[in-house]
Amino acid sequence: MDGLDKLKHISVYLGNTCNFDCSYCDREYIAKDVGGQTLKHAWVDLVVDFFDKTMPHCKGLDIISVHGGEPFLFISRMDDLFTKLFDKYIKNTDRKFCITTNGSLIAENKEFLKKWGPYIKFTISYDFAFQKQNREGNPMTVVGDGLQTRDFTHVSDVVSANITMALCEDKAVCGELFNVGSGTSFAVLDLVNMIGGEDPYYTFMPERLGEARFTQANIEKIKSFGWKPKVKLENWLKEVGS
Ligand code: SF4
Repeated sequence: MDGLDKLKHISVYLGNTCNFDCSYCDREYIAKDVGGQTLKHAWVDLVVDFFDKTMPHCKGLDIISVHGGEPFLFISRMDDLFTKLFDKYIKNTDRKFCITTNGSLIAENKEFLKKWGPYIKFTISYDFAFQKQNREGNPMTVVGDGLQTRDFTHVSDVVSANITMALCEDKAVCGELFNVGSGTSFAVLDLVNMIGGEDPYYTFMPERLGEARFTQANIEKIKSFGWKPKVKLENWLKEVGS
């Protein structure tokens, strides 16, 4: 059990099924090399037993996470696992559960969110065209002159905004519209430079007729309900690499 006191994070694999088909997904590798089987209901107690034996040695553990596949496709198992671990390892601690998700099924599971919302962090899997082009050694394709600005918003902030408003008890918000954004904007060429570094490789495409020149969301309305964006584009790009 040496070194377990330095462990920060234990992740439980729920299953290999997903409702998305991302090009960069590792499910095929997991299925081939480690089986990719689904956690059966009857195995949840075995996982809890593992935690009971391991946690006394993991004083520094911050996160108990679940991933897949798409964890929300295994929601009853996830709920069972959280219920069995909560009192012993989450309640009255700074620890959180973390769900690695594509975010598409969160809004359909409001009861789960009401129950576990304060104890959950979300990690959202995300990639976009410039990063893919850059990683594959292809030029990043800039539309127009690249000086148009956009409010680039991380999907986890979009999810947290949806959760905030879904759980809002003020009935007056029903049917209201709320802008969600980062509150700042960058030129597309700024983004190319952030991803491509000192010598970015890019090419131009013809401007699209009717495309907005400058966009930036006014997020004051949703901020008044306690939500604010957490992810800054420049920090996130440094974190995930280009
Ligand atoms: S959302 Fe995640 S698990 Fe699903 S296909 Fe994409 S990368 Fe794979």
